[in-house]
Amino acid sequence: MADQKGITTRAQDFSAWYNEVIMRAELADYSPVRGCMVIRPNGYAIWEQMQQALDRMFKDTGHQNAYFPLFIPQSFLSREAEHVEGFAPETAVVTHGGGKELEEPLVVRPTSETIIYHMYSKWIQSYRDLPILINQWANVVRWELRTRLFLRTTEFLWQEGHTAHATEADAEAETRQMLGIYRRFAEEWMAMPVVTGRKTESEKFAGALRTFAIEAMMQDNRALQAGTSHNLGQNFARAFEVTFQTADGGMDHVWNTSWGVSTRLVGGLIMTHSDDNGLVCPPRLAQWQVVIVPIWKTDQELATVTETARRLQQELHAAGIRVHLDAREGMKPGAKYYEWEARGVPLRLEVGPRDVAGGTVMLARRTGGKKESLPMEGLAPALQAAMDAMQHELFEAALARREANSIRGATKEKFLEVMSGQGGGGFVYAGWCGEASCEAEIKEQTKATIRVLPDEEFRSPEAPASCMWCGRPSTAEALWAKAY
Ligand SMILES: [Zn+2]
Repeated sequence: MADQKGITTRAQDFSAWYNEVIMRAELADYSPVRGCMVIRPNGYAIWEQMQQALDRMFKDTGHQNAYFPLFIPQSFLSREAEHVEGFAPETAVVTHGGGKELEEPLVVRPTSETIIYHMYSKWIQSYRDLPILINQWANVVRWELRTRLFLRTTEFLWQEGHTAHATEADAEAETRQMLGIYRRFAEEWMAMPVVTGRKTESEKFAGALRTFAIEAMMQDNRALQAGTSHNLGQNFARAFEVTFQTADGGMDHVWNTSWGVSTRLVGGLIMTHSDDNGLVCPPRLAQWQVVIVPIWKTDQELATVTETARRLQQELHAAGIRVHLDAREGMKPGAKYYEWEARGVPLRLEVGPRDVAGGTVMLARRTGGKKESLPMEGLAPALQAAMDAMQHELFEAALARREANSIRGATKEKFLEVMSGQGGGGFVYAGWCGEASCEAEIKEQTKATIRVLPDEEFRSPEAPASCMWCGRPSTAEALWAKAY
């Protein structure tokens, strides 16, 4: 039952606030297995909305879904040197099955490159078999020591795309295309602005040639890596002997890409939009976009109000709006408002006897604006317009907040001040010498990392001349931040 106590505010303790938003909205819960989480129906519904939107975008660009096994022979992981080094420390390994010790231990997939490219070596013979464009929706396991609901859990849900191409240019185009799809999804569906760019060598995916990412700023000014797209080059093709006959009769290794987003996005959505009253969910991803709360005192009122509420529900449903009628009896309207607010439902309709008589409803928005009375006539388009406006406003607010907390051309002194937390942290765009040692020193002293070497549209108008840290000539502008 809803209790009316407020939650910890963002200003008091951002991390406690985050957990309380999740608990209060019943999005997820802790499991008896440390580091794993239970995704409750309200949280899973958001993930399903995300899946549907992304799946459509993947299919519209020619990808198909398939499914590969949860278990991977342990020897597979060690075939690609960087890959095993990157993932071995966090794998879960099955050594026994059916009461017997296995001849070869099985790794619970931390990601599926190895088993998928093993299969591709059987399926690809000729350039005519290319490209292969496959996506998998699955769970993966990475043995994390420090976990947080949605953001970092030992088991999580995700999609992993794995493609094979005849040329480097085709693979690079695919890597870029999927980064673009992730950006479009983040901005148009999650209302979460992102910076796109390339990861440095130290931050790239284990075994990749190049990694690209979308990075978003959370309300505590930390960065969240929200999706990655990798050009794997021919590294895995060599390790798994994925070769093909070229158009002119020669033999070559294929070029691979992989790309993924996970249930981490739900955490990103929460930390981008929610407030001290609970979850704020962009309308396009909300489980229920509209909730109808009938208001009555007498039995006679209950009958007429409920009848009208049901008719409205049917009308809105028929118009393609995800609508829920909260007809629970024995619960006061105020308690219901409080509960739906904590759950982030974008629009609430209150229908009382006077509304029924006047042919109107009372509309309350989860964010922005006062309650207003709307005619029942033409309600669906009016609500759709309200949701479109809210979706747009959430994006604009998040973008304005990110830009207000981004600094360009910072000196070392300013950088230290920002990252020390006195300035609350933020995104810092600055020159970088390109040296891994310099990058490592900054990380050690400030905990800030290079999130990406930003794509052109995010770079400063004038390229920085020198490294913000060591003063040597700058080879690339870097986006620095503390990250989740
Ligand atoms: Zn430097």
